[in-house]
Formats: sequence, C-alpha cells, structure tokens
Amino acid sequence: MYNPKSLKAEEFINHEEILDTLKYADENKDNLELVDSLLKKAEELKGLTHREASVLLACEDQERVQKMYDLAEKIKKDFYGNRIVMFAPLYLSNYCVNGCVYCPYHLKNKHICRKKLTQEEIEREVIALQDMGHKRLAIEAGEDPVNNPIEYILESIKTIYSIKHKNGAIRRVNVNIAATTVENYRKLKEAEIGTYILFQETYHKESYEKLHPTGPKHNYAYHTEAMDRAMEGGIDDVGLGVLFGLELYRYEFAGLLMHAEHLEAVHGVGPHTISVPRIKRAEDIDPDVFDNGISDETFAKICALIRICVPYTGMIISTRESKEVREKVIRLGVSQISGASRTSVGGYADGGEEENSQQFDVSDQRTLDEVVAWLMENGYIPSFCTACYREGRTGDRFMALCKNRQIQNCCHPNALMTLKEFLMDYASQHTKELGEKMIEQELDNIPNEKVRELCKKHLIDISNNKRDFRF
Ligand code: SAM
Repeated sequence: MYNPKSLKAEEFINHEEILDTLKYADENKDNLELVDSLLKKAEELKGLTHREASVLLACEDQERVQKMYDLAEKIKKDFYGNRIVMFAPLYLSNYCVNGCVYCPYHLKNKHICRKKLTQEEIEREVIALQDMGHKRLAIEAGEDPVNNPIEYILESIKTIYSIKHKNGAIRRVNVNIAATTVENYRKLKEAEIGTYILFQETYHKESYEKLHPTGPKHNYAYHTEAMDRAMEGGIDDVGLGVLFGLELYRYEFAGLLMHAEHLEAVHGVGPHTISVPRIKRAEDIDPDVFDNGISDETFAKICALIRICVPYTGMIISTRESKEVREKVIRLGVSQISGASRTSVGGYADGGEEENSQQFDVSDQRTLDEVVAWLMENGYIPSFCTACYREGRTGDRFMALCKNRQIQNCCHPNALMTLKEFLMDYASQHTKELGEKMIEQELDNIPNEKVRELCKKHLIDISNNKRDFRF
C-alpha cells in the first residue's frame, strides 16, 4: 500500500502508485484545462505532487511545454537569482565490492586500475583543487568495507578541511558514498559534512535488482531507506538523484518526487538538492546497452519540471553534460554545477590520464577559470559560497531562508564576496575584468542597505588580502 509516511521503501516508493500515476498522466496529458490549472498552481511556488507533475511531463502540447520552460525560468530567477554555486568531485578510492552493471568500478572489472588515495595524496589533490579556486568538494568512493571503511572516509574529510594552502581552503565537503548505518551517518555529521548525496540510480525495484546483481548495493530497501537513516543520524541536508538512462524516465521522475514527498512527510524537510546525471561511456561500459537513454529535449523538460515541482530544492548538474546542454538547463533552474572535474582517483594532482582509473567520460573539459568566465558572459554570478551550513542554516532553517525570500540579502552578497576572492587569487586577466564589472553591477541588487554597505566594506577587505567573510 502506498504511504508517503511509511519508513518502508516499497510503501513510500510504491510500484502500483507509480503505475497508477503514469496511467493517470497518460489519460490526462491532453486535458489542457487540467494542464493549465496545474501550471497556475505551480506559479504559487508551493510545488506540485508526483501525480500532477507526471501529467505535465506527459503533456506534449508545444504551447504548454513552452509555458513550463518559461515558468521554470521565472522561478529560477525569482528564487535563486542569477547565482550558480561551483563545486568539484574528489575521487578518493575506486575499490568497490558491488556489481553495478553501468559503473566501471564494479568488482569484476579487471581492466581498471584500482587506486585508493593516501592522506598525503589527498593533500596533493586538495592543493591542486585549491589552486584552481575550489572551495566546495563532493567526495566520491566505491563501496568496500575493507579498503574504504568509514574510518578512512572520516580521516580523509579531516585531512581535506585541515589543508590551508596560500589563500585556499575547502570550506564544505559533501559526501557521496554508499548507503550506510545510522551510526556512520552520525559520524559523518560529526565530521561536519555538508550534504550527504546518494543517487537512487533507479526507483524501479525489479530493474534495480538486475542492475545491481551482487554486493551490498543489491539490497533495494537498504539503499532506498538510506536518507531516512541519514536524517536519523542528524544529517538534514540530503541530496537525491536518479541515473537517467537505466529505466523509463517517467517512472523515475514520479519515483524521485515521491521520495521528496516522503522526506517532507516524515522529516518535515525535503531534499536539499536533486542531481540529474545521465549515464555516460566509461571503461568497460557502453551507454548504448541501456536502452532508456533520453534526448537533450526530454532532459531539459525534466530539469524544468523539477524546478517547478520542488521550487525549494537546489538542482545539480555535473560535467557529464556538455557546455551546450549545461547552458540550456542552467537557465531552467540548475543552481549548482561542477567545473574542471576529474573522475579519476588522483586526477587533479597528476592528471590521472595514463592510469585508467576514471569513472566516466567528462563532456565539459574546460578549466574552472573558463567555466567561471563563461557563466559571467551568460549573465550568471559564479558563487563559491559555503556559508549556510557553517552558519547552521541547514534543513528547515535553509528552507525558511528560501521561503522568506532572504536569499537576495544573504546568498547574493556571499556570492559576490566569494567571487571577489576567486578574482583576487585565481582568475585570468579576462575573467578578472568580467568579474569586477559584474560585482559592481550586482551590488545594486542587494535590497537591504545595511547588508549592501557591509558587503562593500568586505569587498575592500578582500582586496586587502583578508578572506572568508559571510552573511
Ligand atoms: N559508490 C557510491 C554509491 O554506491 O552510491 C557512490 C559514488 S559513485 C562514484 C557516484 C555515482 O556515479 C553513482 O551513484 C552513479 O549514479 C554514477 N555513475 C556510475 N557509473 C556511471 C556512468 N557510467 N555514467 C554516469 N554516471 C555514472
């Protein structure tokens, strides 16, 4: 039985409920009166249910689809403004005991070079990342209780936070590791992680079990209930995601929203972020084998609808996507992107190309400086802000900031100040010129006069080599 408040995976992600939802969506996709009323409801920024959202996803009326894009763009502008938060993944270890058929880290892959970074190697990686200008990382590791136990992850987080090289610092470490116990989530919380990210891969249980034939990840319930355990362990910023291409996208989309509704129903706070990875070519992996790949157009529609249906949730897009696709979906509601990513273990300090330890091919291969300049040329403010969780604004406190529309007095000046740091410490001449101009213009968009004046003062302080100001 479907029950969003249940703590059992098969009850809050209920197969029959998804099938009914898809049937309802098919029956109503040409019901333009209903579609219009849903779009009207979405304009109120209260979000839409998985059923309502699925009708919009199924609707193919061009005029309405355009309205969905327009509304997504408007919500993005009204809520998030023009800031884009930057991050980079850091691969710690590709040892893995799972059998995920789409991932080159799977246990039976004997071609891939297995590698686990030592603390000294992590230090070198972090210095290389700091020297690019990164302040926020997402650490990634395969699942291997012997090679990558929780103690290793915790020690690595400690190392990452401890490294202060020149003016650099990693101020927020998000964690993307396999589903684990409440006790381990508590330890991650104590290690002061930002968001705990875990992709569901697919919400379709039968497919999930086939795609994860061996290893602990085979257990659908354990994986699907991980966010509840994370929240029980005190982590209140969690990041959901689906690996698009594995199963039918309409099924996944309904499941993803049901998961968000479940977190809201049980914990009073929805997901902090949603990621939308698409399956990519990798060592031993041919994405064409998975026949549920989605076109760029469908991908954009999914991004727009996530923006409309969960307006308070950040959306993340990685370098799996090309510059062109990123350009399109950033407009539709993406709030966070990675830049200059390496998906190999040790890839930042030594290039990592000669040893084939990478997880998947990266489409966007530009440097961070190039990505930062490109964002500004397109009217976006690249933000290296990490203030929220350091100020204790996590979970529902962050949502309150969003809902009270205080973002413009908080995230906006923080974006400008962290951009200024980037310009001072890491930018090329071209990027610097673009950035100084942008900061000058964007200062006027801070509504509160006191905040604006203080921000101006801090910008001068940053010019004088002081660092790390935040609202
Ligand atoms: N091992 C951890 C787990 O089990 O959740 C997470 C880390 S894994 C390095 C991060 C994500 O990469 C996976 O959750 C999966 O969605 C994605 N991934 C795996 N293979 C991929 C591929 N060939 N193309 C694109 N993304 C892939």
